[in-house]
Amino acid sequence: MERLLDLSGFYPDEEREIEGNYSFPLPECFDVQGDVNTSFNGNVKFDGTAYVISADVQSEFFVECARCLKKIPNRLDFSVKEVYNKDDAEDRIDFFEIIVTSFISEKPLRHLCDESCKGLCPICGKDLNSSTCDCIKTNSPFSDEDIKLLKHTFK
Ligand SMILES: [Zn+2]
Ligand SMILES: [Zn+2]
Repeated sequence: MERLLDLSGFYPDEEREIEGNYSFPLPECFDVQGDVNTSFNGNVKFDGTAYVISADVQSEFFVECARCLKKIPNRLDFSVKEVYNKDDAEDRIDFFEIIVTSFISEKPLRHLCDESCKGLCPICGKDLNSSTCDCIKTNSPFSDEDIKLLKHTFK
């Protein structure tokens, strides 16, 4: 479907189906990798004084786990509803923009691959879900050798 929804030429109580797909990328700050793929279906109803646009939207996209940075598939369903008075309504409504802004407001701020994701080691960067490291336990700024040397120096 085109970006714009044509509201011209409705007669009172007319109802028109809307159905289609939009794909769009988002700025990096949204943590979405690649395009968001949406599909929607709904309708526009005109009661003589106002247009009511409503649709159910399904979206699929990839995000990064906030802890381990793994790429994870996501799915988000939401609905949109917009009402325009006949006197205020433009002939064409930017339905694409409605879908994008609704998606942004519905999308959670962060995603986890799993609630119990252990994340990455902040020191060596290993994925602690699939491997272990000793960084945290032994992360003293001094090695045993350093400490021996210091003790010796200040004896
Ligand atoms: Zn994770
Ligand atoms: Zn580590």
